[in-house]
Amino acid sequence: MRTLKIDDRVYFKSEILDKVSGVSHAFTSRLGGYSRGKIEGLNLGFRVGDSTDAVVKNYNQVSDDLGFKFENITAAKQIHSDDIRVVTEEEKGCGVARLDNTFEADGLITNCKNIPITVFYADCVPILLCESDAGVIAAIHSGWRGTVLQIVGKAVEMMCKEFGADPKKIKVAIGPSIGKCCFETGAEVAAQFNNSLVTEEENGKFKVDLWEANRQILLAEGVKPANIDILKLCTICHSDVLYSYRTHGENTGRMGAFIMLEDERRKL
Ligand SMILES: [Zn+2]
Repeated sequence: MRTLKIDDRVYFKSEILDKVSGVSHAFTSRLGGYSRGKIEGLNLGFRVGDSTDAVVKNYNQVSDDLGFKFENITAAKQIHSDDIRVVTEEEKGCGVARLDNTFEADGLITNCKNIPITVFYADCVPILLCESDAGVIAAIHSGWRGTVLQIVGKAVEMMCKEFGADPKKIKVAIGPSIGKCCFETGAEVAAQFNNSLVTEEENGKFKVDLWEANRQILLAEGVKPANIDILKLCTICHSDVLYSYRTHGENTGRMGAFIMLEDERRKL
């Protein structure tokens, strides 16, 4: 993992994705930004009680820091499903600059250049994928429900079937989210995961490894182990720098996992 510091902002980057030419990506933290009060920081969620003005300023800050066009950032309203939307020029700006034009999904895929696609997280697992030869990227929101639904596996299949990606060439970053260290659940949730991912605690509760669960789904789809980067940054253990749903409550801020295919013209 690489940390990118710009003034008071901190971004986390995957060293595997960082080496892919023509693709830019980052996972934001809560540091810096214009949100105030309990949600203080770089909140990117429009539906958590924050001022819209502050959230827009935060997006503009992220755009300046990462070299994105604010108007092009595209996001969905997340519903803990396995719905994945293909983003074309028509969807560009939905959910952010075109806030009145929002669709529901938990994954975005695009082969369009210069459109940063993003998913939000605050404990749930954000996953970024790319296959640069096929020119396709994906951003996936995989909470425990999305993990059970194998949404990241569905994303790999769509990248291959609809965009000609080769699973052996797909590179993946599993971003900051709740680690097994802190994801304590009851028996009903734990029962939905393979035993190898679950540890029973002395208090009768269970701990589940969502990072490994998603890694195993990716391996089953033919993604190579060496191409999967788990950032291993737990949102609860690091709730001083990351928003955490379980630590700060459901109306805490949301961070964004961004990925974009670069426009060739940027390099001229
Ligand atoms: Zn932890």
